[in-house]
Formats: sequence, structure tokens, C-alpha cells
Amino acid sequence: AHEWQLIARPVGRPAPEDFRFVERDLRPLAEGEVRVRNHYLSVDPYMRGRMDDAESYIPPFELYRAMEGGAIGEVVASRSADLAVGDTVLHNLAWRDVAQGPASAFRRAPQAPGVPESAYLHVLGMTGLTAYVGLLDIAGFKEGDTVFVSGAAGAVGGVVGQIARLKGAARVIGSAGGPAKVDLLTGKYGYDAAFDYKQGDVAGQLAKAAPDGIDVYFDNVGGEHLEAALASFNRDGRAAICGMISGYNSEHPQPAPHNLFEVIKKGLTLRGFTVGFHTHRMRDFAREAGAWLAEGRLVYDETVVDGVENTLEAFLGMMDGANTGKMLVRV
Ligand code: NDP
Repeated sequence: AHEWQLIARPVGRPAPEDFRFVERDLRPLAEGEVRVRNHYLSVDPYMRGRMDDAESYIPPFELYRAMEGGAIGEVVASRSADLAVGDTVLHNLAWRDVAQGPASAFRRAPQAPGVPESAYLHVLGMTGLTAYVGLLDIAGFKEGDTVFVSGAAGAVGGVVGQIARLKGAARVIGSAGGPAKVDLLTGKYGYDAAFDYKQGDVAGQLAKAAPDGIDVYFDNVGGEHLEAALASFNRDGRAAICGMISGYNSEHPQPAPHNLFEVIKKGLTLRGFTVGFHTHRMRDFAREAGAWLAEGRLVYDETVVDGVENTLEAFLGMMDGANTGKMLVRV
């Protein structure tokens, strides 16, 4: 079997020398264990944080040990009464082609007609739940709100704008990198307006796209985007602070927005969250999102990189915006 290991803590942008791809013999299964052949691996921005030796809501990756991450695969050997050969399971032991361990580390994947299994790694899984919880519970979205989403063509962002529209937003605005992504937002995802943050200042472009201001900001990016949202907020505006990807590879902490005083002037609420503390909403989310998907009212994109040996390339590409929708590795 093959696995990726972190062998040095990256400084700034991770370099290939910080990782190694190794082949390992699998030990025989112990009583209660299962072996899973992975079909799809997830690469996610939070993994960049786990490469640093810093305290966070999730421990750092250990050097010279297999890295971890979300995956879906099939049980190929079982010494547990809980899972049988052929079961499709979700788990967090990826960056490898074959995972094994106690059956409790794996859970049977839901199944619905017409839904490909990869969807449980994004639109019906963690990133979809992040969009749902962030918009509805954290930002307290209400019908009639004007919503701005950054990182809007990614796995989380693409779903946020669509949920806002489905729940009755007055206007949904998105930002993303490049003209193709901007077209996707106003076309397939149904955003009312979108702009390319790489073409000119974010605050100016947002002000133009939201002439009557914004009520909700879903922040995937931080930095200049957060500053622009503060400037465009209406009174009592609310932000779900979900991610700050513009700073994940920077070697120095990012400066705070220069216009933080807007929070006081406008009575704004900026509220951060991590989805792992909101899994109690999975049932509601799965019911609503499953129905929207079946009715064709919720759509998504995947960018698929083939081969476990290309997982690092997929991760680095995702950090640079090579993905439209969810970045996945097909094993
Ligand atoms: P995406 O699918 O959105 O992929 C990352 C995207 O980030 C890239 O495609 C790229 O798109 C964009 N990006 C990279 N650098 C920059 C930059 N400097 N400025 C603006 N955009 C940039 O990833 P996810 O949907 O998985 O995650 C999106 C965000 O949500 C991340 O910040 C992540 O950390 C956060 N997150 C938070 C969770 C939580 O519980 N709080 C859970 C899951 C995700 P482009 O081409 O548009 O630049």
C-alpha cells in the first residue's frame, strides 16, 4: 500500500521536499479491524494548518507518519462483525490508497439513488454542512438578505450561494479567481452578480455589485475580502467567518482589517466557527440538501485528479485555485 507522509514543517507555501510518498506492507488485520480500499480522497485547506506545529482545533500532522484526511472507499477485508466486505465507508485515514484500523474508525456511507459516492465528501458531506451551518446558524441568514460569498466557486462557497438563493435571498453576490469561475457563479450556480477578485480592488468591485449594501458575508478568504465586506455592510450585518485561505501560506500573521471600526458604527456581528462542533445539524442538512439535489435545485462541480501518487499535486493545486467545486483524488 502507499501513503503520504509529512517530513518537514513547511515555511510559507509547502514544497514537494516537505513530503514523501512511501510504499508500506500492510500488517495482518487484528480482531475487530477492517481494511478499506479508498476510492476518493479529499484534499482540504485546513490540512495546511495541520502541517504547522501549532495548537489549533485539530492536532498537527506528525512527521514521518501517514497524513490523514477524509475519504470514501470499500471494505475489502473484515475481522469485525460491524462492517462486511463490500460495504462503502467514510473515514478520516486518507492520503493513502488502503486504510486499515478498528471498525469504529469507519462509518457506513449513506446511499441515495442517483447520488455518486464522491458527493459524500463534499456537497452532501463536510463542505456542504459547513455552508449550511455557516449561512443559517452562524450568520443567521433571513429571507430578504443580500449575501456576499468569497471563494464562491469552491466546495463550500458554491453551496453557500445556492442555499442563500433557495432560502429566499434578495441578492447573492460571489467573488472568485478568473473569468471562467465568474461565469459559473452567475450561470450554473444562480448568483445574481459575481466578480473576479484578481481584476482590480475587491472593495470597489463589491460596492458596484452590491449598490444597496450587504446584510450577510460568508468569509472563506479573509484579508482584503473581509475589509471590503466591512465597508459594504448595512446596519446589523452579520458575517460567518469560515476560512481565511488568503493567509494560509503566508509566513507572517495577516494584518487586521484597517476598517474594523465599521463593526462598532454599524453594529455588526462577526462570528467564527468550525464545522466539527456543529455535526448535530447533519441530519437537517442531509434531509434538505438531499431533496434539493434530487430535484436538481442544488448543483455542484468536482475537479478530479487521478492517482494517489498525485495527492500532493491535488492539494497544492487546490490551494492555488486549480479546482472548480470540490478538489478530489480518484485512487
Ligand atoms: P475550495 O474548494 O474553496 O478551494 C480553495 C479555493 O480557495 C481555491 O480554489 C481558490 O479559488 C481560493 N483561494 C486560494 N487562495 C486565495 C486567495 N489568496 N484569495 C482568494 N481566494 C483564494 O476549498 P473549501 O471549499 O474546502 O474551503 C473554503 C474555505 O472554507 C477555506 O478557507 C477553508 O479553510 C474553509 N473551511 C472552513 C471550515 C470550518 O469549519 N470553518 C470547514 C471547511 C472549509 P480561486 O480560484 O477563486 O482563487
